[in-house]
Amino acid sequence: MRNTKHQEAVLNFLKEAEKAVTADQIREGISEKINKTTVYRMLDRFVEADKVHFVTGQDGKAYYALCQHQHNSKENHLHNHLHFQCNQCGKVECLPEKIQVPRLKEYHVEETQLLLIGTCKRCKI
Ligand SMILES: [Zn+2]
Ligand SMILES: [Zn+2]
Ligand SMILES: [Zn+2]
Repeated sequence: MRNTKHQEAVLNFLKEAEKAVTADQIREGISEKINKTTVYRMLDRFVEADKVHFVTGQDGKAYYALCQHQHNSKENHLHNHLHFQCNQCGKVECLPEKIQVPRLKEYHVEETQLLLIGTCKRCKI
């Protein structure tokens, strides 16, 4: 039961974050006390359940965000929307802009991590 409450807390945090967040940011942002391993295990499970996806930031950390779409199958769980990381404030966002992922005959694509790096609208003065 405790576990369900934790899962809800994490999912709610992701829903309200309006940006992609690291496991540490999740732990700091929720009132429930959850240890690091549990958070990572939970996030892995969400990714497998196609609820959440992540992109690896410049700092090597995984930034997680809720999936905004319904996935019909594992095969379709490819994200073609872009992500943006600001090199001033470090914020990572999912962008609505999509790119065409090319079909590669000789390769099987399992994951996409599309990250643009630059200055976000708040840091761009
Ligand atoms: Zn997804
Ligand atoms: Zn910024
Ligand atoms: Zn995204």
